[in-house]
Amino acid sequence: MKNNSHDFKAIADIVSDKLARYVDESQNGTLKTLVQKPASVLAKELQLEKWIKQGGLSAESVQGFMDTYLKNTQHLHHPHYIGHQVAVPHVATGIADFIHGTINNPMAIYEMGPAAATIEKFLVNWMLEKIGWFKGLDLGDFSKIDSNGGGVLTHGGSLANLTALCAARAKIAPEAWTKGTPTDLVILASEEAHYSIARTISIIGLGTDAIIPVAVDDLKVMKPEALLPAYQKVKTQGKRVMAVVANACTTATGLHDPLEKIGAFCEAHNLWFHVDGAHGASALLSAKEKHLLKGIEKADSIIWDAHKMMRTSSLCAAVLFKDSRMMEAAFQQKGSYLFHEKEEVGFDLLPYAVECTKAALGTKLFWVLAAEGEKGLENYIDHTYNNTRSFYDLINGHPDFECPYFPESNILCFRYTKYGLNNDFQLALRNQIVDRGNFYITSTAFNNVRYLRITVMNELTQKEHIEALIDEITQVAQGIHENA
Ligand SMILES: *Cc1c(COP(=O)(O)O)cnc(C)c1O
Repeated sequence: MKNNSHDFKAIADIVSDKLARYVDESQNGTLKTLVQKPASVLAKELQLEKWIKQGGLSAESVQGFMDTYLKNTQHLHHPHYIGHQVAVPHVATGIADFIHGTINNPMAIYEMGPAAATIEKFLVNWMLEKIGWFKGLDLGDFSKIDSNGGGVLTHGGSLANLTALCAARAKIAPEAWTKGTPTDLVILASEEAHYSIARTISIIGLGTDAIIPVAVDDLKVMKPEALLPAYQKVKTQGKRVMAVVANACTTATGLHDPLEKIGAFCEAHNLWFHVDGAHGASALLSAKEKHLLKGIEKADSIIWDAHKMMRTSSLCAAVLFKDSRMMEAAFQQKGSYLFHEKEEVGFDLLPYAVECTKAALGTKLFWVLAAEGEKGLENYIDHTYNNTRSFYDLINGHPDFECPYFPESNILCFRYTKYGLNNDFQLALRNQIVDRGNFYITSTAFNNVRYLRITVMNELTQKEHIEALIDEITQVAQGIHENA
């Protein structure tokens, strides 16, 4: 394959035919969701050594490679894919990736991609508006406005959390950027906070002991009444609270911390309120489901992943701030070659994100919206959340299964109880189901109890698929029981 338009078109045509067929076969459910081979075997099948040493990709040879490659993938479009909280990508988002990969406009500097930079900024305004933080005339208003919200897209929610908490640090300890993080800072968070919060706290030099756990209920939802005693205790130890972190929703269960009450507490005590809405913030798009996020506007910062419930490919996340000046405070750096203090045509996003070179992330979401409109995304959220509730009825109503809670989102946990309540049995069940490759599910533990877990990301997953899952689990369970 030469680096020219002729070879590009010839191979892109073949690849797009193969991908179209892949989507079709996956959606029809005629394939396994996942067939896992050892990496050493796969390296041979993919002929990696030959390709890397010799090159020589061509319209003929790409066919075999693509067949082997696609066969050895996790098939997210399959209705039996109910595993991790990763978007089953809308096919439109793949086109955005294709365009970006071909033209490469890393647009953190406006000059490096004016169209993509404008799309990002517009979509950030759109997200801010959903929270109630946008004060402009219309979404194309990019001017600096007092008390307007601000935000930036990042390569994932983990970086978004880091960015948000750097802003929280800048608020309480502006000198931290040059002098280092004061050691009297802590955050208040529940034990269910995503692990990227712990990474952030460690990275900024506080150490994870600075995460003060706030008590949770039996389902690991933060108890707002536990905030005051935790705060008072921290104060008597001479510590200062840099931020209170709430989950909307938690990764394990998909349940939401009570944002309204937590927000009121933060307001009363003048504390930075950070909402990790990586998965759940998309419910803002749904008139029916947005009650789950009541009080979210009280936050100072929010993260919101589009590559979870807004159907984009990985990665496309947002970190959003109620006050755009706090976004500007997060990283107080000046780099002479990149940060121009000049009058310019557009705007550089570079000062506000960890990344320097950054992909045209907004285009992924733009293509989904351009295909479906925001109503389409609302329907998708309503549909998957609704389906999850009906799957709860199905599973919890079965005599051999039990669910620990009624789902609030599209994440559902359950266990198989016919042969007792042994945790290892649930884990063995999950592993054998995945080995068989007919379904892809995950597992989680809370209160020392192991559960099977599904996340209904696929709009095609229907009742009949869950009935088939129940049959599969029943069969596998019987096998494990008989061999025990
Ligand atoms: C997925 C998730 C994250 C991490 O986001 P990435 O985009 O995977 O880095 C953070 N918090 C919560 C609650 C999540 O569900």
